[in-house]
Amino acid sequence: MDIAATVKVWEVSVKALVYHGPGQKSWETVPDPSPAEPTDIIVQIDTTTICGTDLHILKGDVPAVTDGRILGHEAVGTVAAVGAAVTSLAEGDRVLVPAITSCGRCAYCKRAMPSHCQATGGIGWIFGHLIDGTQAEYARVPFAETSVHKVPEGVTDERVIFLADILPTGYEVGVRNGRVKPGDVVVVVGAGPVGLAAIQTASLAGAARIKSLEPADTPREQ
Ligand SMILES: [Zn+2]
Ligand SMILES: [Zn+2]
Repeated sequence: MDIAATVKVWEVSVKALVYHGPGQKSWETVPDPSPAEPTDIIVQIDTTTICGTDLHILKGDVPAVTDGRILGHEAVGTVAAVGAAVTSLAEGDRVLVPAITSCGRCAYCKRAMPSHCQATGGIGWIFGHLIDGTQAEYARVPFAETSVHKVPEGVTDERVIFLADILPTGYEVGVRNGRVKPGDVVVVVGAGPVGLAAIQTASLAGAARIKSLEPADTPREQ
């Protein structure tokens, strides 16, 4: 099957949040995305988020993000088109698009380290960074079958969106790297969204007491 056969012509113009240099962004009409590789899908974005990283980009802290880049790297959406090599996803499937894109085949992906995927330049985070991102009505998602997750029926976008980046970051960077085990006393510095995810997953890991530190008058304790 030819990739071109799967390309849709959208009936409405596609809008996206486009970065135009430090402090400059605009919600504007962009070219329709279409599968560029047979392993791509196109996702209609239903829910997306603003990450702290996006704020860093907008301050000019991430020079790899250049003028014209569509921002965003977390989304839940509906598959709108599939590349010719994609067999396990179909138009209409609801999917979680995670921050990390992984080929599933390179040495790092095989060692369960997709954030170092060699097929994406050694950094799994490419959306809204090295390729166009998810703060858009549609997005092209590379290596779809080894990157996205189908959303179970009955689970709302709002419940699953945190699995795109925020909750895994709190869990992997905080709880797993911190080797939290049953009975531990855990201190989480900063109770923003990632800190809250660390608190929640430290609790799941069996922490006996969890304290958070933040610049507020009253510390919170769980
Ligand atoms: Zn993020
Ligand atoms: Zn890989």
